[in-house]
Amino acid sequence: MPQRLRDILGQDANIRVAVVERAADIGPELGPGPRPVIIEALSTLGVEIFTNETVSGVDSEGVTTASGLRIPSKTVIWTGGIRASALTEQIPGEKDALGRIIVDGSLRVPGLKNVFATGDTAYAATDDEGHIALLSCQHALILGRYAGYNAAADLLGEPTKTYRQPVYVTCLDLGPWGAVLTTGWDRVVSGLSAAEAKIKKILINTKLIYPPPATDRVFALGEARPEVDRAAQEFATKA
Ligand SMILES: Cc1cc2nc3c(=O)[nH]c(=O)nc-3n(C[C@H](O)[C@H](O)[C@H](O)COP(=O)(O)OP(=O)(O)OC[C@H]3O[C@@H](n4cnc5c(N)ncnc54)[C@H](O)[C@@H]3O)c2cc1C
Repeated sequence: MPQRLRDILGQDANIRVAVVERAADIGPELGPGPRPVIIEALSTLGVEIFTNETVSGVDSEGVTTASGLRIPSKTVIWTGGIRASALTEQIPGEKDALGRIIVDGSLRVPGLKNVFATGDTAYAATDDEGHIALLSCQHALILGRYAGYNAAADLLGEPTKTYRQPVYVTCLDLGPWGAVLTTGWDRVVSGLSAAEAKIKKILINTKLIYPPPATDRVFALGEARPEVDRAAQEFATKA
């Protein structure tokens, strides 16, 4: 944001960008691993951080927090929280706090023989160690492959496959500063530099999240197999 605003308003423009976070730490759900890198990046970029502050009001002149802090602002971007589609409310059965349907290993909705849930709507175990898929493109891509396969297998009377996605990485874009790549559910910061991680992030955003061209039908169908996890291959071998 600071650089974008300067590009628009001029390099000498008086820019102020602030992040307000209710938790004690920035990026609370990412854990302590990448936090020093995130703080370094934000401070280098000139982004102010206000932690332990709960937004209690937003008006045309700025933001107010529960502690009484007032941040004058022309523009407020709300990024607090994600939820599964409201469509899940129409499906009976247990949900998690984000509204996701708690599915079985084949992503079937328990008790509903012909209904599978996937992507952001599915609360699904990624492994046998208690890790649960996140509302992320990384998990949605593979969940979609399994759900598609299993719905087709179900129709054809073939065995379904158990969803498994043991490789987990986080690649966090940190603007012009670069990016940070972590591996595993403990989010251990990889040895990649900020610039190298940024190259990975661009690879993800411009290539890995897109399906293959449908013009090559055989290749496209091959890529749709549940076992194909291009991101895992990329990061397991090179991170
Ligand atoms: C701004 C933003 C940034 C993100 N950045 C990242 C990131 O950097 N990394 C990451 O891993 N994840 C990121 N995510 C999360 C990621 O995009 C989602 O986890 C992923 O797209 C979920 O895939 P999905 O197929 O479950 O759902 P979606 O991609 O949301 O697809 C659901 C589709 O269903 C359609 N739909 C909804 N209701 C109906 C209906 N009633 N009938 C028919 N169609 C319907 C919708 O139009 C949509 O096209 C981001 C999400 C957002 C919003």
